[in-house]
Amino acid sequence: MITIDGSQGEGGGQVLRTALALALVTGQPFRIENIRAKRRKSGLLRQHLTAVEAVTKIGNAQTDGAEMGSLKLTFKPGTVSPGTYSFAVGTAGSATLVLQTILPALMLGTEPSTLFLEGGTHNPMAPPFDFLAKSFLPLLHRMGPKVEAVLERPGFYSAGGGRFRVTIQPVEKLRPIELMDRGAIRAKRGRILLAHLPDEIGARQARMLRNKLNWPEDAIELTRFKSSAGPGNAVMAEVESEHVTEVFTGFGERDIPSGKVVGGVVDQVREYLTSDAPVGEYLADQLMIPLAVAGGGRFRAVKASLHARTNAEVIGRFLDYHIIFRQESQSGVIVEFQKRG
Ligand code: ATP
Repeated sequence: MITIDGSQGEGGGQVLRTALALALVTGQPFRIENIRAKRRKSGLLRQHLTAVEAVTKIGNAQTDGAEMGSLKLTFKPGTVSPGTYSFAVGTAGSATLVLQTILPALMLGTEPSTLFLEGGTHNPMAPPFDFLAKSFLPLLHRMGPKVEAVLERPGFYSAGGGRFRVTIQPVEKLRPIELMDRGAIRAKRGRILLAHLPDEIGARQARMLRNKLNWPEDAIELTRFKSSAGPGNAVMAEVESEHVTEVFTGFGERDIPSGKVVGGVVDQVREYLTSDAPVGEYLADQLMIPLAVAGGGRFRAVKASLHARTNAEVIGRFLDYHIIFRQESQSGVIVEFQKRG
């Protein structure tokens, strides 16, 4: 049985999620210890437990240790059953991360699936729904499967309660992709999300974003949500290029000045536009799993985070690859999958 040390590298939830996703795809059982050892509150939290519950159900798996706070888990996958499933995190924990854990297995095969996911849809330190829909899923589409996500209502920290629906038309085998250049930039857009908060907060953030990035007046829109369970605010900037769309996000929080939230997003956009690499930091670690499942491919990223390097280590435990990170002086890092042996 594969044994994984959950404290390796980044030592967070991704080590577990990558192992679960690949165990389901490859049918290999694993045991993990020291789950999320490098996080302040280590062990399984609601979001991770929901991911375990989802892979267990979809993969007809057996588990040992799937409890709140658990530092150890044994996971033995069975046969994957596509179909219609609902999973609810039950807190504001990220439901998009739960989706990413089950998606690789459901993208393969002959039967379609429909998923209803509830929890956080717009969380700090997780892919916001808009990133998923505009950046991540279109790249999966190029690999063959058709995956569509529809936001029914957003869920922000701390109330959660968001909900989205995902439909998956799978393929027998994923097609590897190369994403080495972004191509010409087609559009730059900003979007301010506002739920149960005064309009003037959003209007100010829109003004700041426009001024700092020097984007045209009509490039920034304000989206108000009445349907979310609690208040929420996010500032998003999107760079759409010929071959990829990147979405950069900052979250408004009580006691954090809007200038700081907008400034954080502006820094991310400037870093991306200064480089000419197509793949941003977050997309890089997320793209590695579908590429590994596809059996190859490569991309050029602005930088390779510890998350990405940790993902490479976990992927290497389940699949026969060397994942090579090659720093190109000014133009980012090339991430390349090579068959071992
Ligand atoms: P924890 O370790 O507390 O369990 P976690 O479960 O949230 O944390 P991490 O290991 O920190 O998981 O992984 C977070 C994931 O969310 C990574 O894949 C990262 O790329 C992604 N992510 C974080 N912030 C963003 C963002 N602003 N946009 C897109 N993706 C993001």
